[in-house]
Amino acid sequence: MCNPYMPYLAKIIRIIPQMDDVRLFQIRFEDEKIRDEFKHRPGQFVMVSVLGTGEAPISISSSPTRSGIIELCIRKAGKVTDALFRLKENDAIGLRGPYGNGYFLERIKGNNLLIVAGGIGMAPLRSLLWYSLDNRDDFHDIILMYGTKTPNEMLFKDELFSLLYRNDIRCLLTVDRDDTGTWKANVGVVTKLFDLVGLDANTQRHEGRETQGKNNSFVNTSATTYAAICGPPIMYQFVLQKLIECGFPKDRIMMSLERRMQCGIGKCLHCSVGYKYTCTDGPIFTYWDVMNMQEVV
Ligand SMILES: Cc1cc2nc3c(=O)[nH]c(=O)nc-3n(C[C@H](O)[C@H](O)[C@H](O)COP(=O)(O)OP(=O)(O)OC[C@H]3O[C@@H](n4cnc5c(N)ncnc54)[C@H](O)[C@@H]3O)c2cc1C
Repeated sequence: MCNPYMPYLAKIIRIIPQMDDVRLFQIRFEDEKIRDEFKHRPGQFVMVSVLGTGEAPISISSSPTRSGIIELCIRKAGKVTDALFRLKENDAIGLRGPYGNGYFLERIKGNNLLIVAGGIGMAPLRSLLWYSLDNRDDFHDIILMYGTKTPNEMLFKDELFSLLYRNDIRCLLTVDRDDTGTWKANVGVVTKLFDLVGLDANTQRHEGRETQGKNNSFVNTSATTYAAICGPPIMYQFVLQKLIECGFPKDRIMMSLERRMQCGIGKCLHCSVGYKYTCTDGPIFTYWDVMNMQEVV
């Protein structure tokens, strides 16, 4: 897009409720030319504006492999998102972007990918998940671990349950507690899922992989594993500990940092962390980068 500050008009095509305060917005630019020009990478975000209210940064939840419609999964949190939740299908909003670095696809390609999500942290990771499944030959093993407090808080439930039946991904879903009595997957915090997989970051052998051939033919000698995690701060703490125990080098763990942002293009300094800008150097950083940021440690 030529002017990075300029929001372009977009229409809300469909609103899909996920839970009381979280909705998936399917959005399409009004201008066909902008629609064609808009290209994003998994992990990037857009600045969403509700006319007369303001702007907020929101991750793109859809994969670039499914172009045309942009999906944003949004929690009602304050001024802009409250106003967005008052809008209906066919109403107009403003969008500018995409911004940020996105996940390090070039580094991950040819390797195993472990995605660990907690709560609404699934929103940015969903783009990476579908990107990797739509480009399945570019990746070795793909594992998804996703946990929420209760079944009702699990986002994208139908599509994630459908992954349980695919043999090109190991999908593990869990809830802290089942308050419905109908939950069919795991119960326990997301880190408990590591015990089911027997993951070793450097040996490429994931015990229990359903598609493993009789002679262990899937074992790959050159691939290593990259982890992408996103969730509440408490989850990061325990998942990072598990990943280190499994032998993950800190530069193969990718995590998202959320900071209050205004410009989105590295000019206003609102989102700076030490000498880095979350909007342009991030929002995706390696654990190694984060450990070396003075403000975060
Ligand atoms: C890169 C990035 C990606 C994101 N992706 C998503 C996403 O996919 N989905 C999603 O739902 N959210 C996402 N967020 C979070 C979202 O941008 C924030 O929740 C945003 O603040 C919502 O804007 P708002 O105007 O609705 O809320 P605000 O009015 O900004 O309020 C949000 C919260 O911040 C508090 N607050 C307000 N002003 C300040 C201040 N000056 N200092 C400290 N706290 C303050 C409020 O009390 C409230 O609790 C993302 C954030 C970033 C940085």
